[in-house]
Amino acid sequence: MSGPTGDQIIRVDMTNLTAKTEPFPDEWKLLGGRGLSARILLKECNPKCDALGPENVLVMAPGVISGTAAPTSGRISIGAKSPLTGGIKEANAGGNPGQDLMKLGYRCVIVTGQPKDRGRRWGLHVTAEGVKLVAADDCKGRWNYALIDHLATQYPQSASFISIGPAGEMMLKGASVACTDQEQARHPARHAARGGLGAVMGSKGLKYVAVDPGKARVRQPAERKQFMELCKTYTKDYLAGPQMFKTGTSTVAVIANMLNTFPYKNRTAGQSPDIDTLDGKNIVASFATRGGGMHNCMTGCIVQCSNVVHDKDGNYKTSALEFETITLLGANCGIKSWEDVADLDRLCDELGLDTIETGAAIAIYMDSGAMEFGDAEGAKRLLKEIAEGTELGRAIGNGAVSIGKKTKHHRVPVVKGQAIPAWDPRPLKATGITYLTSPMGADHTAGLIVNPGLPQDQWVQASQEAQMVNAVCDSSGFCQFLQPTLDNIRSFYGLLYGIEVSREQIADLAWRTLSDEWEFNRRAGLTEKDDVMADCIKQDPIGPAKAVWDVPYELVKQAYTRLESREKLFTTKASG
Ligand code: SF4
Repeated sequence: MSGPTGDQIIRVDMTNLTAKTEPFPDEWKLLGGRGLSARILLKECNPKCDALGPENVLVMAPGVISGTAAPTSGRISIGAKSPLTGGIKEANAGGNPGQDLMKLGYRCVIVTGQPKDRGRRWGLHVTAEGVKLVAADDCKGRWNYALIDHLATQYPQSASFISIGPAGEMMLKGASVACTDQEQARHPARHAARGGLGAVMGSKGLKYVAVDPGKARVRQPAERKQFMELCKTYTKDYLAGPQMFKTGTSTVAVIANMLNTFPYKNRTAGQSPDIDTLDGKNIVASFATRGGGMHNCMTGCIVQCSNVVHDKDGNYKTSALEFETITLLGANCGIKSWEDVADLDRLCDELGLDTIETGAAIAIYMDSGAMEFGDAEGAKRLLKEIAEGTELGRAIGNGAVSIGKKTKHHRVPVVKGQAIPAWDPRPLKATGITYLTSPMGADHTAGLIVNPGLPQDQWVQASQEAQMVNAVCDSSGFCQFLQPTLDNIRSFYGLLYGIEVSREQIADLAWRTLSDEWEFNRRAGLTEKDDVMADCIKQDPIGPAKAVWDVPYELVKQAYTRLESREKLFTTKASG
């Protein structure tokens, strides 16, 4: 056997309102997720186009391993030219649409064009029988949870959904793309959040994609017995290990606070005095009295890092309340209570907004003096203004740079127009090199290194290796929280297709993905002049070491030159 064959691409033309399939090129079989999206965008999208215009191309691509029995492997990448950074963007999400598409043999959905009637909405219906666009005007303006409740009356229980909320429909640059989780209720709680890709989907009038795998089976590997053996031993080893995310990412807050990378009040400090009330341990403690608990956001995830948060009456409120959200919408806005952050998280999921970009924007608004830090009710009102489409709401929904301009505030912590995530580049220099040189802008999932003591002569190599490992992880369908290495991933690829995938080949795949993305950005007009750390990060010191961003660009730019592969490249765990 040669592994999965007969795969298809779904092409959706929103100008002519057609949807059809075509064969997926066999030579692309080891391309999925981020790597596939980059290859398609470089080939088919004009990098100089208006990101919200008809020339942008939206790609939805599950990973190479998605849809198989491999553990924690069903993630889907969303890619396009970003309206926020002006460069290429990939953001990925859990939930079930990725593996449902792959079980049907659909390697990606490519959405082009723009409908003439911008007031209309459309849905894409995907089944084993084929694909079709359907009118979805009755979905217009629906918040994500209400949308899924509505779609649940029209589609079978086996279907999963990719959708946008009102923020995407308004084409706000902080808009996310939601995927439904594997729960019976199909919560639209897993978001490809960064880079404003929800706005690109909105610009095309596409409100949702419904994927119904029916009774489709998991994908069958070429070396079935060995593949299943590998799944078994990998799972056994993982479960015997430390399982560092078993109580969710929000419990990492204490460590981040200790390392001065738990930004407080628009990053004017690296620690929050409210760490005790924001610590994710409170969420875990709430499970005993309120219900909720840890769960897997997609079928087959053995990490189960996602917390399901209930309110005081025991009703579902949100999932997952992540470390990044606790930090950006909590500490960074001076908000003390994790429960207020849970409310804000639910509102962001409802409207379809990136919690990092939105939290950063609200913190800038507060820092400008327009609202008190810590005003949780005020922050909730701002999110409701986004839903109403007020001028202020739009300025917040368009992200950090937008509200910085509106308030004429000087402290705007971004790289390439995108808000810096929780992990702060002042104590974490190698991570800062990732923020400056990654094609993705300030994005910790592009290559995170949490090691403040790393010697200077290792910063560049650590960043480059982390960027390469994460580029392959985000192309494979594995979740970064499973922490696979390049050696792990090439073993799964090899058994899936019955081929040997060497270390050299997997390293080349990683570098090719980064090179495709850098090339897209170069053609889009981004240059070294865009590799700029925000002034406030260069000027405002944090922590006892009074750390600022002071890494010379001569050193930073070395990350663009491929270094010789060393053992560590293949054994470093993906991390985000
Ligand atoms: S590790 Fe967490 S985020 Fe990743 S797939 Fe599992 S539950 Fe979802």
